[in-house]
Order: sequence, then structure tokens, then C-alpha cells
Amino acid sequence: MAQVTCSFCGRNKKDVDLMVSGISAHICNFCIDQAYQILGEEEKTKKTPKSPKFKLKKPKELTEYLNQYVIGQYDAKKVLTVAVYNHYKRLLQKTSEEDEIKIEKSNIIMVGDTGTGKTYLAKTLAKVLEVPFCIADATVLTEAGYVGEDVESILTRLLQAADYNVEAAERGIVYIDEIDKIARKSDNPSITRDVSGEGVQQALLKLLEGTVVNVPPQGGRKHPDQKMIAVNTENILFICGGAFDGIGRHIARRLNTQPLGFNKVFEGKQVDRSNLLQYVTAQDLKSFGLIPELIGRLPVVTHLDPLDKAALKSILTEPKNALTKQYIKLMEMEGVKLVFDESGIDYIVEKAVEYNLGARGLRSICEAIITDAMYELPSDDNTKELIIDAKYAHQQFDKSKFKKLQVA
Ligand code: ADP
Repeated sequence: MAQVTCSFCGRNKKDVDLMVSGISAHICNFCIDQAYQILGEEEKTKKTPKSPKFKLKKPKELTEYLNQYVIGQYDAKKVLTVAVYNHYKRLLQKTSEEDEIKIEKSNIIMVGDTGTGKTYLAKTLAKVLEVPFCIADATVLTEAGYVGEDVESILTRLLQAADYNVEAAERGIVYIDEIDKIARKSDNPSITRDVSGEGVQQALLKLLEGTVVNVPPQGGRKHPDQKMIAVNTENILFICGGAFDGIGRHIARRLNTQPLGFNKVFEGKQVDRSNLLQYVTAQDLKSFGLIPELIGRLPVVTHLDPLDKAALKSILTEPKNALTKQYIKLMEMEGVKLVFDESGIDYIVEKAVEYNLGARGLRSICEAIITDAMYELPSDDNTKELIIDAKYAHQQFDKSKFKKLQVA
């Protein structure tokens, strides 16, 4: 009988693990592997065309998408979607010499209590735009001595999010969290500390405005062997966010000193003291301790509203991937029908308010309540339904570690 050999590499059947035979040819497992890799490479090059496209959606379309995930925050949504839309229109602008009207970059700053959805808004926007997105923490920048290096590390993260596709990264969105923590502390007696916050602000200026930065692809300290990647930040959209604790005082003071009439009226309406952030301006950010140059590079200022009980309730139940929907799905996979009774939902919301945890607390409270059931039910063939009402929620929450932790 004739020897069976691979038609591609000529290996003998006895030298390979597997030989697949066709009508008049054979292929061994090594060649199959190799062919598969070639296929993969081909696919990859097809997926990353030379000039990648991004989806330009109009502000209203963007808002519609955001609404599926983010509850309320209509002012922030409007301001953000317009800024993002203009930013990407700017990218599409033909860079012809005759075009005298250069659209300027519109980086954004969001002011809002922690857990009101600042990061979530930025993340959801990046998702709908299908551009690389990363989150950086401004507080990390203060801690390191080498400010310059840390600022570059923001871009390392963006590069990683873009799979090292520099062109894609250069159209990405960076969310810088806790920008308020690098404010100049004017009432702080320690001068050196003052400088550190201001130093980081200075380091960010160039990045926000647009410059070419040499980025260490793996991050960390500059390594002599590490090949740097040049990234141009001119078309990267920076969204900064912070809680700006105490900025209400600055806003109130400004509103008071302005000739607003006796009843503290602002733009024809009574000033709403329960939500002063809605009046925030660049001037307040300056009083808080951001340097004017930084504020100048963040021309779009917006605020997030505090979340009241109704908003928390909506967050818990309405968004496309609302927490309750996630738990129902998880239980459904076990063949258990999970029902959130209205009273149970109210209980969870009340606890989130009581512990002052905002939307972020909803999840930990739900976990505290449902973990027992998620532990027991997969091994219990008899229970087919679980109703989370106030009584059940209360009983579970009281014995949870969460409760003990909070008390301690
Ligand atoms: P922030 O950045 O303002 O501190 P996050 O955006 O990280 O807060 O919010 C924490 C979590 O709370 C989010 O991941 C999201 O699940 C939820 N959340 C907060 N605000 C909202 C909102 N307005 N609508 C829907 N979910 C929200």
C-alpha cells in the first residue's frame, strides 16, 4: 500500500498525530494548525481597516441609547451628547488649508455626587460610539513623584483598550475620575501639598489640549528596553468627573453676591437650594481650586443630579441591565422564578438611602439579601419560586455581614 503523506508538508502519516484525507490529498494536524493561524491573521487584518470608521450618531440618538441604561441626568446627557457629537464632527472635518474655521476640542467636566452615574455615562457613551475607552484616576497621579510618567500611563491604558491600534486610540475617550482631588487646597496651610495638586493639573494641561506623548506600551516606569509608542492626544476626548465636595458653598456664595433680587432668583426661577450643583460654572471650579488653565481646557461644564428614592427605584428595575433583571436571569438559569415584590424593592432603596450609598450601594444591599438564596437554591430541587418582599429582605439584610460591617 502506498505511503500516506501530507500533501502540504510531506510528513509521513506515522510522524503526525492526525491525517485528514480528502479526495486526492491529505493534510496533517501541523498543517491544519498553521492554516488555521493564517486564517486568523487574515480575519484580523480585515477587521482593522486602514482608516477605521466610528459611528457618528446625532445627539438625540445618543440620548435615546443612554436612556436605556442611565436613569435621569437629563442635563448631563444633553450637554454630553452635544459635546461628543461636535467632537466627532470635528474629527470628520476635512483638514484643508482653506478651511479657516477650526472647530476646537470640547473636553468635558462633570460635577456630581459619588455614585450618581458619572463614570457610567462616560462608559455608556463610549460603548455606543464604539471607540476605545479607559478610566484613569486623578488621585493616583498625585501619589507618584514622577508626574510626567503617570500622565503617560493614562494613555497606556487607552492603548490597551484599543488593542494597541494607535489610530483607534487617538480617537478614543478617556474618563479621568476624581479630578476634584487634585484641586489646589487654598485653605491648606501646607504649601508643598498645594504644589503637588497644582503640579498634576499642570501636567494634564498639554495632554488635554493635544500633544504627542511617548507612551510606554506596558505602562510602569520608563524601561530602557521598552519601545515607546507615540500617541497624539489632539483628537482624544477627555471627560473629567468629580464629586467636588463642598462646592455648594462656593456656588451659594456666588449666587448670593450676584444681583439676583431679594428672593434669590436665578434665570427667572427660585434658587433650588437642595440641588445647587445645577448652577455650577467654571468660576466655581476655580474657587474650588482648579487652575484657570485647566478649566480653560475643559470648556464644557455639566452637573449630575442627586439620586432620590424614585430615581434609585428606577435604577434598580428599569435599565436594560437593571440589577433586578440580572438576578431574575441568574435564578431563571436554576429553574427558579424570582419575583421582586414592590415592598422588597422599597426596602432595598430605603437601605441605600439610609446608608447614604447612592446607586452604588444598591448592588451590595441586593447581594446581602440574595446571597443565601443563591447558595441554597442550586442544590434544592423543591423550591421553584422565591419572592423578595420587605419581610424577606429585612430578615436577610439583618443577618448579613453588610449590616454588621456598617454598624461597626
Ligand atoms: P460615579 O462615577 O458618579 O461615582 P458611577 O457611574 O460609578 O458613579 O455609578 C456607580 C454605579 O451605579 C453604576 O455602575 C451604575 O450601575 C449605577 N448608577 C449610578 N447612577 C445611575 C443612573 N443615573 N442610572 C443608572 N444606573 C446608575
